[in-house]
Amino acid sequence: MSSTMSDVSAANGAEADAATKLRAAALATASRLAGKVLIDGALVPTESGRSFDLLDPATGDIICKVAEARSEDVDVAVKSARVAMAAWSVLPARARGKLVAEAGRVLASHGDELAALLTLESGKALRTECRTEAANLADVLQFFGGLASEIKGETVPLRPGVLAYTQREPVGVVAAVLPWNVPLMLMAIKIAPALVAGNSVVVKSSEETPLAVLRAAEILNQVLPEGVLNVISGDGASCGAPLVAHPDVAKVTFTGSVTTGKRIYTAAAEKLVPVTLELGGKSPMVVLDDADLDKAVDGALVAMRFTRQGQSCTAASRILVHRSRHDEFVQKLTAKVAELVIGDPFDERTDIGTIISRKQLDKVEGYIAQGRGAAGATAHECGTLPTQERLQRGFFVRPVVFTGIDNDHPVAREEIFGPVTCVIPFDTFDEAIAIANDCDFGLAASIWTRDIKSAFAAVGVLEAGFVQVNQAQVAELNISMGGVKQSGIGRELTLESMLEHFTHRKSVVINFE
Ligand code: NAD
Repeated sequence: MSSTMSDVSAANGAEADAATKLRAAALATASRLAGKVLIDGALVPTESGRSFDLLDPATGDIICKVAEARSEDVDVAVKSARVAMAAWSVLPARARGKLVAEAGRVLASHGDELAALLTLESGKALRTECRTEAANLADVLQFFGGLASEIKGETVPLRPGVLAYTQREPVGVVAAVLPWNVPLMLMAIKIAPALVAGNSVVVKSSEETPLAVLRAAEILNQVLPEGVLNVISGDGASCGAPLVAHPDVAKVTFTGSVTTGKRIYTAAAEKLVPVTLELGGKSPMVVLDDADLDKAVDGALVAMRFTRQGQSCTAASRILVHRSRHDEFVQKLTAKVAELVIGDPFDERTDIGTIISRKQLDKVEGYIAQGRGAAGATAHECGTLPTQERLQRGFFVRPVVFTGIDNDHPVAREEIFGPVTCVIPFDTFDEAIAIANDCDFGLAASIWTRDIKSAFAAVGVLEAGFVQVNQAQVAELNISMGGVKQSGIGRELTLESMLEHFTHRKSVVINFE
């Protein structure tokens, strides 16, 4: 017995040592990137040299100083992109595609380094989240690189003696404004189609997660021509707003909050430039009485993105379950969530890391307190917070599954962006759909049933840009992603989205007579 215990403690010690080494390596990269933006293929300081502290969400320690770009840096970055675009946009599309795909291949060889850097700044668990995200980044670049030759127009049978056709042309310098929840993935799905279509890009990273994005762009710049991909960091008002408003920015693609999305839409309207906005959701998961309950419970674990602390725009933060299966579902779900290990994001045993920031933790805890105060509500808190001394200042929170919460309550209506969901009972199919659609958002939804007719009926009436039956996976390449209602404008992840959002169609009529 004692030898088993010493084996376990040796294994625990080894995991902890490995985590410490990975964190140290990521910190070394962070200190090299400190205070820098990426312009014209090189890491450079900002004009003013201003910077802000970046905190490790797991320990509360300062990771490094991050460059605080302002309008003068925005000018330099946009100018670099504009100059670079002249040569980039006239390269044959396949040549651009090959370069973007090659950049993806180079990036793939740096997956471990990027995953560790992302773990350090985001607090998301390395094993369950950051490794996959880093790998996906390379995959997205290769996917869009391969679509380059699909950038083509149509011929129009107008009349004899006339050749009428359309051609697709790049829109110009693209501003890509990123949030913090999946920064590498979101950077990839914005820059890859934009670049392949012949545009150049200025990425504005999130204040909370600037490092992995900057390092990934530095690696991509080993392959891409200088200035085609620039990255700046800073806050929304002093860096994001001047970028969006810059007269030479011809298109804005944004993922983040509804409030900021509306500001960006307004600023883009002033200049009359197109926008793509991906603004989050309050995605319903509807479990009918005939559903395979175990499958639905496993699906809810994925759908709610518990391993990402619920920090997902498609998180199933409203789970509607037929009243006859409600209690069994709640019992099984809470038991499974409770098994997830909350801990050091670098530790291979950890399933759930930290919330991104103190501000976001306060917001999440505020919603949990509000939910607790609702008449008839029960907060099922799951799992155990880490006990290590060095993690005590980290932004950890236990996942909460609420029952007895009405669909009118803020916990069921507003995007919490934390590991908080509510299970709401219903009696009839129509009632379930009415509750699902009684929501300001319309990003994703899922329906769980063994009955094909019910599945199709639900697909037809659920108000969402992305509906899944008997699964609720994260967005996939080649499946359009985007929302209706307050969830945004435009779609991402497909050939169609590349053509619609990153090219414009020029019509040409040639008269031979
Ligand atoms: P945010 O929308 O405030 O910020 C997202 C990005 O926009 C950041 O890079 C920020 O600097 C930039 N920005 C802010 N104001 C800007 C402006 N006026 N012009 C141009 N850029 C601007 O989101 P946040 O503060 O990171 O998170 C707040 C909330 O947003 C979260 O609680 C969550 O509900 C939601 N969110 C949604 C998503 C999503 O995937 N839809 C992702 C992250 C956060």
